[in-house]
Order: sequence, then C-alpha cells, then structure tokens
Amino acid sequence: MNDLLDAAYEAAAAVLRAAPRVVVAAHTDPDGDALGSLVGAVLGLRAAGIDTVGVRVAAELPRELRWLDPDQLATTAPAGDGWVLLAVDCGSEARIAAPAGVREGAALVVGVDHHHDNTCFADIDVVDPGAACAAMMVRHLLDRLGVALTPAIATPLYVGLVTDTGRFQYSNTDARAFAAAAELVDAGARPQEIFRRLYESVAAAKLVLLGRALARTEVRLGGRLAVTWLTLADVTESGADASATDGVIEQLRAIDGVEVAAFVRETGNGGGHKVSLRSAGGRVDVSAIARAGGGGGHARAAGFTSDRSRDDLLAFIEAEALSRGACTD
Ligand code: 5GP
Ligand code: MN
Repeated sequence: MNDLLDAAYEAAAAVLRAAPRVVVAAHTDPDGDALGSLVGAVLGLRAAGIDTVGVRVAAELPRELRWLDPDQLATTAPAGDGWVLLAVDCGSEARIAAPAGVREGAALVVGVDHHHDNTCFADIDVVDPGAACAAMMVRHLLDRLGVALTPAIATPLYVGLVTDTGRFQYSNTDARAFAAAAELVDAGARPQEIFRRLYESVAAAKLVLLGRALARTEVRLGGRLAVTWLTLADVTESGADASATDGVIEQLRAIDGVEVAAFVRETGNGGGHKVSLRSAGGRVDVSAIARAGGGGGHARAAGFTSDRSRDDLLAFIEAEALSRGACTD
C-alpha cells in the first residue's frame, strides 16, 4: 500500500472513530459487493462501538442477495443531522443510493471505493483501483478501527469478494484476494453455503428470461462485439423480477473471439434503458464507452442508463466499440 492510500485510510478511520453517528450507503442497483460492503461496514462499525445506521433506497433488491438481511437497513434518513456519510463502492456522488436528506444531513462524506474512474467527490476519498472489491477495503478500514472479524461481519464481506472477482476468476483475482478469502473463511464465512445462496437459489423464471436473451444474441464487428437485449414485456411475461437479468452479460462475454459484450435492458422509466458492458481480453476499456454514454465503471465491467431507443443504443455501442479498438487487426 502506498503512503497516500495509507494516509487516506488513517484519516477515514480517525473521522469515523470520532463521528457522533455514521450513516453508510452503497450504490444504486446494488450488487454483491455494494450490499456486502454496506452490511459488513454497518456491522463492523457497530462492533467498534460507533453509532451506525445503514441506508438503502426502497427499490427491490436482487433475490439472491436478500438473505443478507437488508431489512436492517433504513429506507429513510435518520432524524437530525451532523452524521458522517460513508459511501462504499460508489464511483461518483450521483451513484450513491441514499434516501432523501441523508446527503444533506451529512457534516462530512467519506468515500471508500475501488473504481478507477472515481471522481473523488468525498471530503475524504479512500480510492484503491487495485483492490479487487470494495469489501476488501472495508475490511482494511475495520482493521484500522481494531475490529475483530466475526462470522456475521465476514459473511457479507466474503459476498463482495466472491461476486466482484467472478468467483475468483476475473483479472482482479490476485494473491491479496485469495489471502482475504482465507482470512474471511477463517473468521467464519462459509463458502459453500454462500455459493448456494448466491448462485444456486435461482428462480425458474430467471432461466426462462436468460433463455430469451441468449436466443437474441447477435454477433457484430466480425465476431468481436456480442449484443443482446430484453424489453420490459420480456421481464413481465417471464414472471421474474428485474434483477433476474443479472448474469445475461457474462454469458455473452464468454463467446470465443468477443472483445466487447453489451446488454441493453428496457427499464420502463419513461422508455429508458440500462446498458451493461463487459470487456473480454482487456483490449477495450468499456468504462470509456460507458462514460461516453453518461455512466462509468471499471475497465472490464461498466454501464450507463439512457433515454435513447434500443436501436439507437445498439448503433452507438457498435460505433464506440469499433473506435475504441474492437476489430482493429
Ligand atoms: P452492471 O453491468 O453489472 O450493472 O454494472 C457493472 C459495473 O458498471 C458496476 O459495478 C458499476 O461500476 C458500473 N455501472 C453500471 N451502471 C452504471 C451507471 O449507470 N453509472 C456508472 N457511473 N457506473 C455504472
Ligand atoms: Mn465493487
């Protein structure tokens, strides 16, 4: 760890230790790392004797994450003000999923994040693009606060680690990730049980929806771009919830020769769409495409939302993928 990052952790720990209250939030449409980091931070800070409230917005959570007990997270701002807002896994201020009043009532904002395009929006930014997941950063922070891991704290942190590393397969899976896994398992996280809950508690409707998306797969740019899409009607007819579309994009990225995978999903908010992007092989930085579309993310996993039509978005993605290096030889 370099000195600057070390100093940022130290500053964050000092502020949290002295805070009259800490409110923890993660990003919108929370994934395993967002929710795992959030729940892990809440339980860990409480173990350090810090008055802590976790918050989320009231939207539906992915079915496979509900067991993390999100009911303990508030969907309204606490009374009063003057708390420290701890934002985990958020690359920008706009990504923070906090009920009305939470941001306004914060005397200070601490950001703990691993996105390389983090905008440094907080008063204290602890940003480590080299960290495999935000959950590992929360673990470091808790370490500085002298928190001993318990099974209850280790479990959500392990969820963040296993999901953001693609079950220890993505390029961010380094020795530190395995060392963190060993520490969390030693502290009581149960890999097989967590695997079952995350990946083998699938609703049948989700497979039906996945089948529909896969059947529409289209390969463009001489095999380097794979795209597919789902409408709101597809989701409704399948009987699945919106989060059931998680995982579609990973299937597309697996196609031999594909460098960019894109999945366009109608969200229903005034005809809006959510675009998910993945890079295979690492030649194309898909976060650059996402930023051009108004979003952001990691070099190999990024996304944005847009009011443009599906055809418009597919043409935009194709042009962007082409100009950013897919299909250059
Ligand atoms: P997913 O495709 O799984 O929804 O998102 C992959 C990653 O892209 C997320 O972890 C997040 O970093 C980023 N991402 C997705 N959607 C957005 C968005 O609308 N705005 C920004 N800034 N990042 C996004
Ligand atoms: Mn993350």
